[in-house]
Amino acid sequence: MKDCNQYDLPCRFIRLITFVDLPIKKKFRLFSIGVLFWFLVMATLTVVGMVGINMRYDKIVNHAVPQDKVVQKIIRNLQSMTIDSSNMLKAEDRVTVERLQDLSSKRLRDLRDFSSALALGGAVNDYSHDSGQLLETLHTTSLSIDPEGVTYLKALNLLLDEIDMSYADFFQYKLQVLDKEAPNGEHLEGRYKVLEGYFSQASAISVSFSSKLSELYHTSSSKISEIIEVTIMSIIAVLLVAILLLILFTRWIVQALANPIKAIIDQIHDVGTGDVDLTNKIEITSRDEIGTLSQEFNGLMDTVYSMSTFKRVIEEDATLEDVYARIGDVFRRELDIDDFVIYEVDDNQRDMVVVYPLALSSKEMACNPDILTDCDLCRAKKTSHEISSLAYPQVCKQFKQETGKTHICIPMIIGGRTGGVVQFLFNGIDGVKLDITDIQSRIFKAETYIKQALSVLEAKRLMNTLRESALKDPLTGLYNRRFLQDHANHVISGVLRRKKTLGLIMADLDYFKQVNDQYGHDVGDMVLKETAVLINKGVRDTDIVIRFGGEEFFILLVDINPGDAIVVAEKIRKLFDENKFKIPNGSIQKTLSLGVSEFPGDGEGFWQCIKYADVALYKAKDTGRNKAVRFEEEMWSGDEF
Ligand code: GH3
Ligand code: MG
Ligand code: MG
Repeated sequence: MKDCNQYDLPCRFIRLITFVDLPIKKKFRLFSIGVLFWFLVMATLTVVGMVGINMRYDKIVNHAVPQDKVVQKIIRNLQSMTIDSSNMLKAEDRVTVERLQDLSSKRLRDLRDFSSALALGGAVNDYSHDSGQLLETLHTTSLSIDPEGVTYLKALNLLLDEIDMSYADFFQYKLQVLDKEAPNGEHLEGRYKVLEGYFSQASAISVSFSSKLSELYHTSSSKISEIIEVTIMSIIAVLLVAILLLILFTRWIVQALANPIKAIIDQIHDVGTGDVDLTNKIEITSRDEIGTLSQEFNGLMDTVYSMSTFKRVIEEDATLEDVYARIGDVFRRELDIDDFVIYEVDDNQRDMVVVYPLALSSKEMACNPDILTDCDLCRAKKTSHEISSLAYPQVCKQFKQETGKTHICIPMIIGGRTGGVVQFLFNGIDGVKLDITDIQSRIFKAETYIKQALSVLEAKRLMNTLRESALKDPLTGLYNRRFLQDHANHVISGVLRRKKTLGLIMADLDYFKQVNDQYGHDVGDMVLKETAVLINKGVRDTDIVIRFGGEEFFILLVDINPGDAIVVAEKIRKLFDENKFKIPNGSIQKTLSLGVSEFPGDGEGFWQCIKYADVALYKAKDTGRNKAVRFEEEMWSGDEF
């Protein structure tokens, strides 16, 4: 599921209802709410069904059945009264008639009780105890609220009144017949017929009402079955929908969690086995924790990828300067840090130089420039610990507080010593202007890059030292003859390209042998060392001083104007003339003879011009020493070089 286009509403809707972009906690919370919802729907359906069933059941239990029971009693009583009346009609003696009359009046009273019970709803026994008969307690709903019941009760009560009157009339007449006060036959029969008519009318309306009640019983029972059926079907339907949704959502959620995690595990596994494509990204499908995890993992892979590429590239870089430039580039490009300085600590552990950016002057440095000549002033160099003004304000005395910047200085530990310091600078010194977390994360990455670079820096510096030592004279620290052989072409082509002149000076100490003879070899060595310092003092930094032989030195003056070489030579000679070499128990004075030539002024060949300088030196020696002699063509008597 990829991220949706802003206008792709269906896609956005699906993402919304599948909780893709919600945090995992919320996802599961909503999932639980969903499950609860379907439970509630099922519970509601069950309750609604139960209530429906209960209402119908109530109609049957409290209405149809008990009322019908009472009506059945009414019907039975009416039937019994019909039989009693018929027996009274046929009775021959007064005792029988009076017993039957007694029975019928009780039945009549019961009938009225039943009618009242039906009208009032169930308190049958309240009305029956007077009659001495214990009737069942029937709780019914009152018929007086049911229009059909009201009609029935009215008709029944009217008929009972009629029966009451007709029965009294019939009974009185029967007594008169027995007392022979009235004639038997038609009149008695007529009264009996009227009474029987009322009985059958009352029975008829009762039977019809009873059948209404049983009809109600049947419709209610079938309604109950219907409700049960509908409820069960609805619950099954809801259950199916809920199960379907549950399966779908479970699948979605599990997939959304499992797929990216599996991809990450695979990638980690591949990293472990080395068979990994670091450019292969994990697809980010959601904006939840898993999405963040994938994103962070991709970021981590990116870092690992750029780290490993970075290390490979700097390993293949030719020079130490290239490596520093590459580190600077990676800080700018990958970490978006622009303000930083890389210092390199010299092998002598005293000096420090800015190696990146190369154009930085000591004035532009954020530190006191004294650290360049006494690197132990630099706190990060001295302690070999990270020094951060974020952790402790004004932590380093050498830092120029007036810059208003925050500094984090990371020492580069090379071969167990601080071989350099990387200083990161950020505008602002308070937490308001600076996003400290962001800085810390960038510094963390920078440290990782630095760590990657350390072994390469160490190897390159070692190589440089080895190369230097092969090209340098250990006693004086000057370049040796081999250096001249290796670098001559480079120097010459530069001078020719710039259309400048190269001054060549061959210098030799006068009567040096005497020093050795008089004071010993060690003192001789001391004089040679000081000679190197003295010559260096007389030339520019860009000039090259070489120890050519024992006490013979060769000086290359780079990019001079024609005719200037002899001036420099004379200046050097003077330095020696005025110098006193310190030796144990005093000092001695030594003079210097110099031969000077210029390239390409004196000859087309560089090596030829060196020879010319040598020739001039001999001239100086021959003509009294302690002098600088400019080569002239007449001095060269030999063949073409
Ligand atoms: P000149 O004025 O003619 O140059 O006389 P010189 O004595 O300087 O010249 P010479 O060539 O006779 O002697 C050079 C001496 O320099 C011989 C050698 O013992 C000494 N020498 C060469 N290399 C070293 C070195 O590394 N240390 C010391 N102490 N002496 C050295
Ligand atoms: Mg000499
Ligand atoms: Mg010599």
